[in-house]
Amino acid sequence: MNQDADPIELLIQELTRFPGIGEKTASRLVFHLLRCPKDDAEALARAVINLKEKVRFCSVCFNLAVQEQCRICQDKRRIESVICVVEEPSDLIAIEKAGNFRGRYHVLQGALSPLDGIGPDNLKIRELLERLRQDRVDEVILATNPNTEGETTALYLQKLIKPMGIKLTRIACGVPSGGDLEYIDRVTISKALDNRREV
Ligand code: ZN
Repeated sequence: MNQDADPIELLIQELTRFPGIGEKTASRLVFHLLRCPKDDAEALARAVINLKEKVRFCSVCFNLAVQEQCRICQDKRRIESVICVVEEPSDLIAIEKAGNFRGRYHVLQGALSPLDGIGPDNLKIRELLERLRQDRVDEVILATNPNTEGETTALYLQKLIKPMGIKLTRIACGVPSGGDLEYIDRVTISKALDNRREV
């Protein structure tokens, strides 16, 4: 951090790196912080550091976790034999909010995108295959996003998993194509899961 930089400008610059935050919103946040009590600003700074220090990836499914395993992997009531494959933890959260899925997850931490240089080795694909070989899994639901990268990833996984003799399903349409699970409403996600088709 440049210590000589104008503190206001510096924080505005940092905030504009957040998704969906332009210069105008960043300025509003900074001026809000300047007006609020010092304790509140310190609590925010501590919460950010706390987040980075305490949150890690689950050793089983690569969801966000505060312990070695995430709360879903630790939950004995969840069905172990059904694994829903998603791109990001935010997609997992969207499906959890829909409320009708009782299985477990595997978070790939992205999607295949050759143009951006993201190949299979950049995702948690090897770890998924390892899980499928070791655990008794009856069904894998491919819930990658219904856009080009998500479809490419689903097809790639299909080729790898199909020969293993595990039932493979893809979430149904109803999820608008080109969309992102994170921004789709609960009812649509819940229907897309219920109407998943075998591939
Ligand atoms: Zn987990």
